[in-house]
Amino acid sequence: MSNSSHYHRTLFERSPNAIAYHRLLRNDTGAVCDSLLLHVNPTLERFFQRPASELIGRRFLEVYPHYSERTQRFISSLDEASRSQTEITLSFHAHFIGKWLRTTLFALDADTVASISTDITQEVMQEMEFTGFLQSNLDMLAVGDKNGRFIRVNQEFENILGYSTDELEGQLVTDFIHPDDLEATLAALSTLQEEIPLNQFINRYRCKTGEYKYLEWRAHPIGNYIYASARDTSERRRLEKELQAVNAKLSEQTALLTTQNHRLQLQATTDELTGLYNRYFLDQVLDELLDRADRYNETISLVIFDLDRFKKVNDTWGHPVGDEVLKYTTRLAKKHLRRADILVRLGGEEFALLMPQTNLNDAIQAAEKLRQALETAPHPTAGCTTASFGVAERLRAESFKRWYKRADQAMYIAKESGRNRVMPSSIEDAHSLTNIDLHWQPAWNSGSREIDSQHHKLLELATLLLNQRGSLQTEKNLEELTAHIDFHFSAEARLLAKLHYEGAAEHAQLHQKLLAKFDQLIQTYRDGAIRTSAFFSFIIDDLIMDHMLKEDVKFFSFLRQKLAESDSHSPS
Ligand code: GH3
Ligand code: MG
Ligand code: MG
Repeated sequence: MSNSSHYHRTLFERSPNAIAYHRLLRNDTGAVCDSLLLHVNPTLERFFQRPASELIGRRFLEVYPHYSERTQRFISSLDEASRSQTEITLSFHAHFIGKWLRTTLFALDADTVASISTDITQEVMQEMEFTGFLQSNLDMLAVGDKNGRFIRVNQEFENILGYSTDELEGQLVTDFIHPDDLEATLAALSTLQEEIPLNQFINRYRCKTGEYKYLEWRAHPIGNYIYASARDTSERRRLEKELQAVNAKLSEQTALLTTQNHRLQLQATTDELTGLYNRYFLDQVLDELLDRADRYNETISLVIFDLDRFKKVNDTWGHPVGDEVLKYTTRLAKKHLRRADILVRLGGEEFALLMPQTNLNDAIQAAEKLRQALETAPHPTAGCTTASFGVAERLRAESFKRWYKRADQAMYIAKESGRNRVMPSSIEDAHSLTNIDLHWQPAWNSGSREIDSQHHKLLELATLLLNQRGSLQTEKNLEELTAHIDFHFSAEARLLAKLHYEGAAEHAQLHQKLLAKFDQLIQTYRDGAIRTSAFFSFIIDDLIMDHMLKEDVKFFSFLRQKLAESDSHSPS
């Protein structure tokens, strides 16, 4: 027994809590109005910073005289503890010792109550710090449990949502969420329950006024709690939405402008009736086309064609049918185009076909195919409509004007010689001739004086014919030229055969072809179907450019060598 009371005393004296026994003092009505301190332990002495001798036997209000709400609360708590026979716990700031205390009171008998007080200053300070931190923060801060129930929220919640902290604390987060965001919010909650932090999660909260605000959340699960901060992003969202709308409108307008621009460009560069490119377009692309041809030394050909007797179509069937025929012709022509070809309606019933990387022969063939297509595919109403074609391959560095003029001229020759035909270009005026150098070039020396003099004469007669075209002299010049060509070709062939030139037979064949073509031309000319201009192409292109300058030069070195040998063998 004495052991046990020794233990009790030791506990009493060593306890880190302040312990006191109070004898209750009652007023006339029996209510507790003060207490007498019966016993205090050393911790209480320390808390109150007074020795036990100054405390024991004193009344509580004597020791703690300042009447205040707090002391009054303590006295009534003593009363309550004695009446209810249950523990009463109260926390208060004992300002005379500068400590926060949590005191538990319980009755020992009818007139005696024990108090056990714990120093909770540190806890309270931490809590106050936390509260201060919560309240001073500009973000919405909240502590919640893992079920998504608010435990603490700061003032900012009230500022943003309109609810007081009391109205929120203890409530489920999900009670405030926009129905459409509920599912996502529950998913976010379960993420947090799995200890995974949440970042930039946005949902809509119902404010006290009933409107919804967008909150962006960041939350960390720590232990059993979720620490979360949120920001009202409604304004930012509204601005973003506004910006989006503005941007959408802008890009709509840009698209519209682009289409309008495109349409304008199309309108400007295409022919309304046929949908083909127009002359304006041709002007736009021409420089680039010609530059390219010059840069890469590429051939490029131009075909100009004009429907034959189109006026009659209009006169017979009316203008609308004429229009249909133009469209019909366009469709037909398009079928024969290659990808790189550019078909242009020059105006009326006249078209141009630009053929990059195409030489004269290929262009003639293409034109011929088109001519045949028109001839063999009659329009359902207007019947067969033919066209006349002029074809010109561009000479290196030739201006478009001159090139075009040659093609155009060839087309007129096609018209003059009976229509529905393809005519290659000829170099048809004095101006053109001045650009062709018919003067003797050193490279043209064959090594044979005989051949050279014949070639000289050929050039002379050709120049004469070209310069006197249309005059009465033409017939005479033609005869002279024909005779000379005949003579020269035979002489040349004889010489090559004699010297055993291995290409002699082949060259003689070329002579035969040229002669046949020349004869044919002369015949057509005499029939009145072509003008003298038709000879220019033959003389310049066939005879001089293609034959003399390309074929004859092939045997020049052979000739020089052979003749040098025979010279050295012959006695001087
Ligand atoms: P040629 O064989 O010599 O070319 O004779 P042509 O009748 O075709 O030539 P001409 O230049 O005398 O007449 C061309 C006609 O084309 C006159 C014009 O009314 C008609 N024409 C020009 N543009 C259009 C058009 O867009 N639609 C229609 N229907 N006719 C047009
Ligand atoms: Mg016509
Ligand atoms: Mg020859």
